Amino acid sequence: SAPPYVLNFGAGPAKIPSSVLERAQSEMLNFDNSGMSVMELSHRSKTFGKILNGTKDKLKTLMDIPDNYEILFMQGGATTQFAAVFYNLVAAKQAKDGNHDEIFVDYLVSGAWSNKAAQEAERLAKNERSKITVNKVTDSKQQFGRYGNVAPADTWRFSDPAKTAYVYYCDNETVHGVEFQQVPQVDPRVPLVADVSSNFLSRPLDVRKYGVIYGGAQKNLGPAGVSIVIIRKDLLADLDVGPVRPLMLDFKTMADNESMYNTPPTFAIYMVGLVLDWLVEQGGLAQIEQRNIAKAKKLYDAIDNSPLYNCPVDPSCRSRMNVVFRLTSEALETKFLAGVSELNMVQLKGHRSVGGIRASIYNSMPEQDVDRLIAYMESFEQAHTE
Ligand code: PLP
Repeated sequence: SAPPYVLNFGAGPAKIPSSVLERAQSEMLNFDNSGMSVMELSHRSKTFGKILNGTKDKLKTLMDIPDNYEILFMQGGATTQFAAVFYNLVAAKQAKDGNHDEIFVDYLVSGAWSNKAAQEAERLAKNERSKITVNKVTDSKQQFGRYGNVAPADTWRFSDPAKTAYVYYCDNETVHGVEFQQVPQVDPRVPLVADVSSNFLSRPLDVRKYGVIYGGAQKNLGPAGVSIVIIRKDLLADLDVGPVRPLMLDFKTMADNESMYNTPPTFAIYMVGLVLDWLVEQGGLAQIEQRNIAKAKKLYDAIDNSPLYNCPVDPSCRSRMNVVFRLTSEALETKFLAGVSELNMVQLKGHRSVGGIRASIYNSMPEQDVDRLIAYMESFEQAHTE
């Protein structure tokens, strides 16, 4: 029977814990006795300053971010960071050792999002005075004919580390359900960049291994409108070095102005702060990771143990956040999806580019709701197999 609440399996914007929404509701009209909502506060006010710095401090503690990293709140979604990463890290490389005749930017392409990021870099590279080559270190679609696997690391073809501005990868491919289970090993001279939009704070991450970690908030961290960028300070290049770039995409401008060069997305930053409080209440990242492992295992087991369902992703790189699966025919998939709405389950349809089913089970999805989905899968299977 249907539970009295909606089970949101959407990939993003995604479910926000109800206790977080309730707290926001209770503070909506009169935040901290200001007589105003957070939305109405000046971003230069003391009250908002406390929110912004508090959010940064909480993130720093939860993720164990060392002092030589800067935390930036930016806008334009994760997609904007495809360009920002390219501009700023090419600039950092040029600031460090002057113009090379040729600079490389290396991409591990494991799904739709890393592919889009590589395409954006290719587009922008054409415009630069220096010769910048976008190198696909590995490309799952080329190697396997489709996404759903990552070739072994010993087959990756990196560029000359001395000439490489960065190595980029997407830690969790939201559309294809592919997640790296280890940090990719790269030459220590080359900054590693990770798009963690869809697995942000779902597990502990060793920040020290990265040059840049970034993600949009709207999956694991709160509402759309803010992206978080964590960058090693030595990679902040002066604006007049390297590619000409819009001020709003410049990491150093953002850092020098405490993410307030212009009006930041104040309400979204506040909401991220509340989600971080909730994460602390849950016991922090190690605890959350254990829960995410348990939820994902249950769901993959239900898929693997059934003749009706199958997961197109190799077990070595299955996402704990976005579980994608197929049924034995598209007609059955349509029927499967038609049945979920009666159970108050929403957003289970796979991404429009791949079809099938996708259950996004971010931090905020309780295990009991994964159980409800599995129960539906089992009853559907019984009704549709002899
Ligand atoms: N990167 C990943 C891994 C994503 O899942 C998404 C969106 O779903 C993006 C980037 C793009 O994010 P945005 O829509 O915030 O630009």
